[in-house]
Amino acid sequence: MSKVSEAIAKFKKVDISYDYSALPQDIKNALPHLKKAFDLITTIFMRQQMEGLPEIYEKVMSENDEEKKEFWKQFKGPWSQLEDFKSLYPEFKDRPATCAFYPADITKEEWDKALAGMDEAEKELMNDTYTVIIRENGKLKAVPYHVHYAEELGEIFDHLENAAECVENELLKEYLISRAEGLVTGNYRDSEALWVKMKDVPIDPVFGPFEVYADGFLGLKATYEAFLMVVDHEKGNRLKEIENNLANLARIFPVPAGSKPAVGKIAPMIVVHQIYSSGEAAQGIMPSAFNLPNDAWVRGNVGWKQIMIYNIMQAKFNNCTMKIADKISHGKIKAEFDPYFYFVLMHEVSHGLGPAYRADGTPVAKAIGKNYTAIEEAKADTGGIFILLNLGGKYGIPAFGKETILNSFFAGLFRSMRFGVHEAHGAANVVEFNWLKEKGVIKVLDNGDFETDSTNLIPAVEELLNELCRIEAQASTEEAAAFLKKYATPGKDILDAIAKLTDIPIDVRVEYKL
Ligand SMILES: [Zn+2]
Repeated sequence: MSKVSEAIAKFKKVDISYDYSALPQDIKNALPHLKKAFDLITTIFMRQQMEGLPEIYEKVMSENDEEKKEFWKQFKGPWSQLEDFKSLYPEFKDRPATCAFYPADITKEEWDKALAGMDEAEKELMNDTYTVIIRENGKLKAVPYHVHYAEELGEIFDHLENAAECVENELLKEYLISRAEGLVTGNYRDSEALWVKMKDVPIDPVFGPFEVYADGFLGLKATYEAFLMVVDHEKGNRLKEIENNLANLARIFPVPAGSKPAVGKIAPMIVVHQIYSSGEAAQGIMPSAFNLPNDAWVRGNVGWKQIMIYNIMQAKFNNCTMKIADKISHGKIKAEFDPYFYFVLMHEVSHGLGPAYRADGTPVAKAIGKNYTAIEEAKADTGGIFILLNLGGKYGIPAFGKETILNSFFAGLFRSMRFGVHEAHGAANVVEFNWLKEKGVIKVLDNGDFETDSTNLIPAVEELLNELCRIEAQASTEEAAAFLKKYATPGKDILDAIAKLTDIPIDVRVEYKL
């Protein structure tokens, strides 16, 4: 099998078709406009990976190589996300760590030297999440996204305006217009604040530049993505009690001396069914939950929203997670969906807890730099189990028992380590595995199978959470790197186990009916 067909085969096609007839007519009318806007988000995302990629993509889609088309559709370019964005096509180079956020040949020295000669405002623009760095007359310069991608954003604006015209719900209408304006002016905060506050809407469209995972150079620049989701109010209502008790969850979370947590005013938990996605959200591995926005000002002054994508999560669990647990333990480790769902929910909650600012006011993400995402994902996972273990039975959190929690979490570890151990979530899971193995919670048998032992689970999880929060609050970039070098390096046990999983899909892939 070629590498291309192998990569395609690792994603199981699943049907998550949604019954649109249940949606009100005004929303049905808005959907085609939203789809058009969201497809342009993919165009921008492609340009962020490599300028000129959208045109190459169109060419690939117009040709007759079906396998190539399928691969490019799935990965939004020639690179395999499963191999750290290595190109599977000889005519293309591997995706550089800089993507197209920076000139391809930039060095850290050039960057530092350029910043040293700038005033504060220029420096801020260079470090901004929403600027592209170009070289003009031999000098580095920051160009805001809304200028650099003005053409696509202008079209997106029109489609969003059309969608807003169809919609009857006032809040949703206001949000769509505000977001459209935010994208073309570079003022993202107002619309993000509106989004956090937007409740009781039939659909929840989330779109814009958000995550900085793709920036392997400095971890500063955000990629565009979009999610179109139908809100499941019935399932969401069951999470209300947890939502109302977030302060009690925050209380047990470590915040090392001097550091400060993000003090969000609200953090609604929304359960949704995804009906479309684009940009980075539609590249390879599909997110099944997220917590946005990332903007520290919005988080601190308004709050954030936790989205649980029920249909995607369930598809992943049934097709991947459960099968992995079965395989690497010969049926002894039983993963269950319900505890897994709550673990993922608490992972998202944990992103909002613990240190957000250092004693000197620097946001933690800035202080740690490019290793931040791996540390933060490990913190969110560890915080997730920590909350389930310590608060199960209280505040609307079900009491699952520590063995059930451990087993359902354990299966998930291998599911994401297979994505690539260099990617933030994969690296985070290697940390958790190695730590829990060191503490005797995970045991490797002679035949390479795994067993779990929950005896030391509670102290092991607490120690790891304390260490990760300490790193976020106080460690130097070197210290954070040293921690990852020690714990995020996969051993033979992990690599052998991953090698055994070849017949189990890595993730799911959906073809939307929209
Ligand atoms: Zn996360």
